Amino acid sequence: MNSNEFTEKLRLVALNSGAELFGVLSAQKIDESAPDGHKSSDLLANVKSIIVLACGRKLNEDRDYVYKWGPDYTLTYIKLKAAVKKQRQEARRSIEAVKGILRSKGFKAVTEPHGWTGLISFKQASYLSGLGVFGKGSFVVNPDLGHVNILGCILTDANLTYDIPLSLDVCGDCMECIKACKYGAFTKIEGKYEWIAEKCRCYDLIMNPVTLKWTYGPCNSKCVNVCPVGK
Ligand code: SF4
Ligand code: SF4
Repeated sequence: MNSNEFTEKLRLVALNSGAELFGVLSAQKIDESAPDGHKSSDLLANVKSIIVLACGRKLNEDRDYVYKWGPDYTLTYIKLKAAVKKQRQEARRSIEAVKGILRSKGFKAVTEPHGWTGLISFKQASYLSGLGVFGKGSFVVNPDLGHVNILGCILTDANLTYDIPLSLDVCGDCMECIKACKYGAFTKIEGKYEWIAEKCRCYDLIMNPVTLKWTYGPCNSKCVNVCPVGK
């Protein structure tokens, strides 16, 4: 089986087992612009390709988590509601299916499933593998499905056929994400909006003073959730 056929087989398996989008990029391509310590080659020796799966967009619409104190005040547990847990398990299935095929052919396959460790940039990987383009709000938007919530990057030493980045303007005159941000995280520089990570309040954990429950706040991805593309 040549690399084209093998890539198509992986694509089919991923899409039939829960992934909504499948893209592949060359590991060398993303490593060219990645800082030291954040290259795919830091995670897997002899890495050739990165497979990107978008499989959890709906999870963003149902962030109904329950937060609990851990055994001491340095930890909190996030207890997912049963429905969210089920969605995550389904998403996980497609990652495991793709990894299983790669390994059955003697290739290495490792994954960092949520992008939360920040070891490699999932946004950059999803753009380079053609899953979507950067909108004004600096998140990746697929022209049909809307913002992509990437749940899987699989690194492998298999030679695969690479997708190419999309070239289109998904935003037009829309300014919804910029208007939605109340924390000044978007600044216009030379006619283009830049996202200032230090000002973003997306993942601050705060305790609700009334319910004494932990929650994401004060913002919960408002810019992403107002994006009209794909709705
Ligand atoms: S997540 Fe919230 S704080 Fe961060 S840029 Fe978007 S709207 Fe602003
Ligand atoms: S909300 Fe509007 S401007 Fe922002 S990324 Fe989506 S389409 Fe583009």
